[in-house]
Amino acid sequence: MTQHSCACGYQADSTEDLIDHLGEMFIPPDDIAPDGQAHSEAARAEAATGPLTCRCGYTADIADFDRHLLNIFTPGDEVGLDGARHAPA
Ligand SMILES: [Zn+2]
Ligand SMILES: [Zn+2]
Repeated sequence: MTQHSCACGYQADSTEDLIDHLGEMFIPPDDIAPDGQAHSEAARAEAATGPLTCRCGYTADIADFDRHLLNIFTPGDEVGLDGARHAPA
């Protein structure tokens, strides 16, 4: 079994769980990224199976979408909203 631990000590039980954790630590409540744009899942009119569209216009399937958000929101020093450093260990 693969270990998915964060630099803060958080032990995730899956890659998805770790990505969720990092998102919670890095994404502010207003969804405004360091680039000044809002990034979050735009409302979807269709069934919940198609690709996701970001408010910046980026479209991807769900796994790539999560990575897009993490890439945008992860600060250079990897310090989260709680003041601790978060990165896949
Ligand atoms: Zn975006
Ligand atoms: Zn963490």
